Amino acid sequence: MKVWIDQDLCTGDGLCEEICPDVFTLQDDGIAYVKQDGIVCDNPGGSAQKAQVPAGLEDAVKEASGECPGECIFVEFD
Ligand code: SF4
Repeated sequence: MKVWIDQDLCTGDGLCEEICPDVFTLQDDGIAYVKQDGIVCDNPGGSAQKAQVPAGLEDAVKEASGECPGECIFVEFD
């Protein structure tokens, strides 16, 4: 499973990071990005940088996607 964020739509509320901090992180620009293996996918982010979701975190990522007020967390299944 992969996940990415459309930063253009992110409100910066941080809900995703609260739900699943291993995958989502708010950065200094006040916007959320995905992480893979602890590395922030912020260059350039968006659909160009999809993070592989670690085993066991799929449900949390799906929850974050469902709760995201910007509707900007996109999950893709392998
Ligand atoms: S939950 Fe959605 S809108 Fe909120 S910070 Fe995360 S990606 Fe952005």
